[in-house]
Parts: sequence; C-alpha cells; structure tokens
Amino acid sequence: MQKTKNIVTIPEKGGPRMYRLVNVMEILVKETIEEILRSAKNVCGCERCLLDIAAIALNKLPTLYVVTEEGEVLLRTTSLRQQAKVDIIRAVTEAIDIVGQKPHHPQKRQS
Ligand SMILES: [Zn+2]
Repeated sequence: MQKTKNIVTIPEKGGPRMYRLVNVMEILVKETIEEILRSAKNVCGCERCLLDIAAIALNKLPTLYVVTEEGEVLLRTTSLRQQAKVDIIRAVTEAIDIVGQKPHHPQKRQS
C-alpha cells in the first residue's frame, strides 16, 4: 500500500521564496572596479578605497533596481552589462582617479 499521499513535501519551486531588492548597477560597478584594478597596480585596493570608488561611480550612474530571487540576478546582470558597460567603465575610471589622488586614509609608503 502506497503511503506517499500522506507525506507532505514542499515543492522546490512552490515554497516560500526570498525576494530581494537589488541595485543591479551596484553589482556591475563592483565587478567593473575589480576588473580595472586587476590591471591598475598603482591604485590602492584596500576596502576603504574600493568602497569610495564605488560610491563616487554609483553617484554618477543611474540606479537600476530589480526585484530578484536567489539565482536570478546573474542572468539579468549579464544582459544588462553589455548596454551599460561603457558608461560604467567611464564612471569607474573617473572615480579611481579621484580616490587615487585623494584617498580617505593616510597614504601608504609607496617605495
Ligand atoms: Zn586604500
């Protein structure tokens, strides 16, 4: 006799979901900063400077909020990235220049 009808399971796609409000631009800007800093060795890459760069760049760019579920955001950012890439690179490059000239922490010894 089958008893499976009495077993209650939560379907993988039917259970309660976690929705999040995400600024896609923030994700793209952080990715772009990491990409650029990988080849720009003369820029301080500490967390404070990274966040300063992100703040300056994000203030120049439009916000791009989406509601996502887990696993969904990467698909969206991949397609958005192509459209916004040029603007993001320009904003991030300017922000790196600003922070590089005037970091919010004492200059580290550089030689
Ligand atoms: Zn720094």
